[in-house]
Amino acid sequence: MSPSDQPSVRLRPEIVALPAYRQGQAAAATAFKLSSNENPFDPLPGVIEAVSAETAYNRYPDASALALRQRLAAKYEVGVDEVHVGAGSVALLAQFILAAAGPGDEVLYSWRSFEAYPSLVTVAGATSVRVPNRDDHGHDLPEMAARITERTRVVIVCSPNNPTGTIVTSDEFEAFMAVVPNNLLVLLDEAYAEFVTDPEAVTGLPLLKRYPNLVVLRTFSKAYGLAGLRVGYALGPVPILDAARATAIPLSVTGVAGAAAIASLAASDQLLRRVRTITERRDAAWRALTEQGWNIPAPQGNFVWLPAGEETTDIADVLSAVGLVVRPFPPEGIRISIGEEESVEKLVCMCADIVDDLP
Ligand code: PMP
Repeated sequence: MSPSDQPSVRLRPEIVALPAYRQGQAAAATAFKLSSNENPFDPLPGVIEAVSAETAYNRYPDASALALRQRLAAKYEVGVDEVHVGAGSVALLAQFILAAAGPGDEVLYSWRSFEAYPSLVTVAGATSVRVPNRDDHGHDLPEMAARITERTRVVIVCSPNNPTGTIVTSDEFEAFMAVVPNNLLVLLDEAYAEFVTDPEAVTGLPLLKRYPNLVVLRTFSKAYGLAGLRVGYALGPVPILDAARATAIPLSVTGVAGAAAIASLAASDQLLRRVRTITERRDAAWRALTEQGWNIPAPQGNFVWLPAGEETTDIADVLSAVGLVVRPFPPEGIRISIGEEESVEKLVCMCADIVDDLP
């Protein structure tokens, strides 16, 4: 029987129509990969040792990832059950959305934001409600609050926002939480929290005690440099975390990933010094680009957002041709990770030429 003779399997049409996850473009060995907001530093020797010591590949990992949750609980002074871990914070986002929203329900978020949100909502069978970012590229929280309906089950707030790098301030967030019904799950996606230097930015952790509907999501992928090992964590109320745990694909945090995360927590000081290097590079790049005439929102993640509009694809091609592999979102702009020092210098230099040629 040829494939065309076979009866077609009935799949969910909305799933068949979903685009595949669009990964940051790979870079040639001579180029800089600035397309996935990764950490440019090599893993610490202590982390490599911890990974090498984890050799029981013939055994399943601890499904509850207890050792890692204990370390995180101690760090944040919360109970072990108030910590949930998953194979990256994207896996956790999927779990929380599945736990709270299904067919007929709405999930509300600002747009443009993290590309995975729309797909995760569709997979859950729910409907995305996207509220456009403000003109300054930040979240419009009052408008988001106004768009809450009886069908809204989850609101996602991303601060710093991927890809625009903007933050939500504490005041904005608290004003928002004050009007959100407390039976509506709010996910505060803080994947880039460690890079934040603006004192006005919201930090979800101290707010957890005040809001029974708040969950904070963080990751080891960015500041901690473990994107390849896939570990993220959520902090929040036990009943919500338990519901997310119930949706999880079991055993997805491997022993190797858990050991690397534990070793990274032990080396936090060293890793956070690296973060400071990146934020200094970021701020210097932002100042230089702003002086050149680019209108770039103050970046608070490990990346900058060039609102290049209709020129997005052309500019990304020019950058790529000189070995800077960036992430275009046509026709809005380009997200560029802050990586190696040389890549930032090259970026600033190229952008000076590009801005002169803009219409
Ligand atoms: N949230 C945001 C805002 C992100 O940008 C990313 C990664 N690009 C994630 C979550 C997921 O990160 P990970 O799954 O690697 O933890």
